[in-house]
Amino acid sequence: MEKLEFQTEVNQLLQLIIHSLYSHREIFLRELVSNSSDALDKLKYLNLTTEPYKSLTFDPRIDLELDEKESTLTVADTGVGMNHDDLVAHLGTIARSGTKNFLAGLSGDARRDSNLIGQFGVGFYSAFMVADKVVVISRKAGEDEAWKWTSDGKTGFEIEPAERTVAGTTVTLHFNEEGKEYANSYKLREIVKKYSNHIAFPIFLTADKHEWDPEEKKSVQKRTTEQINSASAMWTRPKSELKDEDYREMYKTISGDPEDPLFWFHTKAEGTSEYTTLFFVPSHAPMDMYQADYRPGVKLFVKRVFITDDAKELMPGYLRFLRGIIDSEDLPLNVSREILQQNKILSNIRTASVKKVLSELKAIASGKPEEYLKFIDQFNRPLKEGLYGDFLNRETLLDLIRVKSTKVEGWTSLADVKSRMQEDQKGMYYIMGGAEALLRTSPLLEIYRRKDIEVIILDDEIDEIVFSGVDKYQDIELKAVNKTSTSEDFKDESDSGKSDAVKPLLEKIKAVLGASVKDVRASMRLADSPSCVVLDEDEPSLKMQQMMKAMGQKLPDIKPVLEINPDHEIVKKLEAATDDALVGDAAWLLLEQALLIEGVPVENPGVFVQRLNRVLSRAV
Ligand code: ADP
Repeated sequence: MEKLEFQTEVNQLLQLIIHSLYSHREIFLRELVSNSSDALDKLKYLNLTTEPYKSLTFDPRIDLELDEKESTLTVADTGVGMNHDDLVAHLGTIARSGTKNFLAGLSGDARRDSNLIGQFGVGFYSAFMVADKVVVISRKAGEDEAWKWTSDGKTGFEIEPAERTVAGTTVTLHFNEEGKEYANSYKLREIVKKYSNHIAFPIFLTADKHEWDPEEKKSVQKRTTEQINSASAMWTRPKSELKDEDYREMYKTISGDPEDPLFWFHTKAEGTSEYTTLFFVPSHAPMDMYQADYRPGVKLFVKRVFITDDAKELMPGYLRFLRGIIDSEDLPLNVSREILQQNKILSNIRTASVKKVLSELKAIASGKPEEYLKFIDQFNRPLKEGLYGDFLNRETLLDLIRVKSTKVEGWTSLADVKSRMQEDQKGMYYIMGGAEALLRTSPLLEIYRRKDIEVIILDDEIDEIVFSGVDKYQDIELKAVNKTSTSEDFKDESDSGKSDAVKPLLEKIKAVLGASVKDVRASMRLADSPSCVVLDEDEPSLKMQQMMKAMGQKLPDIKPVLEINPDHEIVKKLEAATDDALVGDAAWLLLEQALLIEGVPVENPGVFVQRLNRVLSRAV
């Protein structure tokens, strides 16, 4: 017999499951049954496609057996099984880095963490919520040896040779005090119906049943075995027969998420290509959504046979939050990974599915706007990623995303921003490159406020990347307010007189600032501020430049254009000033304050403060 210790993360996970999930204890059964179902899926596939498994007799079933007296429950399957090394690897360590990151990110606050962990599949280890001893006996398909794994869920496990007549896995739970309530056949039946009714394999329950015996005229106890689930692949059934409850249960089964899904889209396609898809949108973004090794949520089936749940190419990356299934009638069973990637049938299904999902979302956005906002709160960002990669659906995606703006609180759509445009407005304006509070106080917005023009506020880190490629919404040009060209939109007759008058001052300032700016110009977009900085059309914002530099990218030196407000009191006084030293200090301060307000720190705080103090001492 070997004694092994759990990996540190497993201990952490166990502690967490036991202490935070106590109000959802019953999910232990869902987790064990779904592990069995996965094991059966795997063997079913091998049995249909691969030697030597083809010659095995495959009798798929999951058996629950309750011993009320001993207070034990076994969950046995005839699936693919595990050998010695599998047991050590799968039931003693955590392989996925997503899980590890998740654990590292927990706050230690039990209430908040239990919400988090609720969104996260807890798997086999949840057995220790209800058992103080768990025994697993498993035999891998195609191998002769069986192994027994035993643990109290505290520090580690023991492993030793065992006997099992056929391939598969038997998990025996010795219920603890908290688990005793599940040593009850009615309760078990109820939990299976609730979470696992649509598992595609039959689930049997063997237990003592009390029956009325008419001859003896009393209740007698009988050991009976009954199938307790409907065992159909639910997505094959007509929509008209399915209830919301069926969908919710299916979602929980395939996603491991105990929360209800927000929406689901069930489609049967017939004609040149025949397939069924069922997609769910979770209520919360999956924990690993922003990790490179996220788990794809869509499973591929061919004629009800499970093929893979690990193909990221089934759906585009920006829809990686979807959970669900694609079941094709036309693909061959033995599709390999390589074939999957360039398979015409699959890529047609994918294209049609993306269209379908987006159009369903659009229908929800207009039909149930409040529900849609729940979706946006979780998934606006991945949708925006689509703007960058999915050109085919860009128009639809632009309608689906939501933005902030100077005119409304909360989210608004581009369509609504468009509807609020003024008649002679030359485009839809946006400001980006920094946090919302910073953007909202930017001097660049002054002209828009004065003219009552709405400006879209793009404060998400990824906005600059995704919107840099989007220059139109429908027929309307999207324009950044921090670009030199937008100042043209607000020129009127009286302006050229003002610009001429301020020219000598501009020249002086330019001479002082030298290579620190590209140009110094009179600005028509300011009201309360004396100056602002703007960039040429294709230049990244100052914030973006900072980020790129911080990431070690080499950038050519991009200098901003300094714009000066000819109507501002400071500027007017400067025009009349004769003291060159003062004008020099003021020139730098006008540039530095404009940069500061854009979130760019001054290059040399010491010099900046000296300058500020020189000007202050004159003023006081
Ligand atoms: P998950 O199912 O999310 O991968 P689990 O902790 O539930 O996480 O299980 C870990 C692994 O142990 C599974 O991925 C699988 O390889 C293996 N396993 C668990 N239960 C069984 C079973 N009944 N038959 C075969 N393998 C199993």
